[in-house]
Amino acid sequence: MIQEILEYNEKFVAEKGYEQYRTSKYPDKKMAILSCMDTRLTQLLPAALGIKNGDVKIIKNAGGVISHPFGSVVRSLLVAIFELGVQEIMVIGHTDCGVQHINADMMIKCMKERGVTDEQIDMMHYCGVDFETWLSGFDDVESSVHETVELLENHPLIPDDIIIYGCVMDSVTGKLTHIK
Ligand SMILES: [Zn+2]
Repeated sequence: MIQEILEYNEKFVAEKGYEQYRTSKYPDKKMAILSCMDTRLTQLLPAALGIKNGDVKIIKNAGGVISHPFGSVVRSLLVAIFELGVQEIMVIGHTDCGVQHINADMMIKCMKERGVTDEQIDMMHYCGVDFETWLSGFDDVESSVHETVELLENHPLIPDDIIIYGCVMDSVTGKLTHIK
């Protein structure tokens, strides 16, 4: 698969396929979006929001969540706000998210089947990581979006004038439902 992509890339560059995507690093719409890495949203999300290359900063992970208040998602948002002029943040969860109902015990079982040892898993606990909670998914996407927006609204490093909006996108139609 990677080989195929590398070959495509050479052709893309040679044929100047990039011309239509040229833009600057500063978001034209002064907005950041936190969403899920779900493959259904790859093109659907920007299409359904009418955004194009250069418009917004998009941060994605499994579930579109903030697993640590001083982790990489918040750091990215701080860079977006203070370095790149972002004024509004949209948190976009989506229906039928794969992170919903993730079972930490099942994932640990799969890790063991793939060669991760009990000692290595114990090590996580010794390092002070609440491994099960860290791996767990959320029960419902609406509450997850709600909590994320609340965390951002109350985050000590995010200025009060930043507008934060939480919603859930239908993974088929792209329709947004406002949550918070
Ligand atoms: Zn998802």
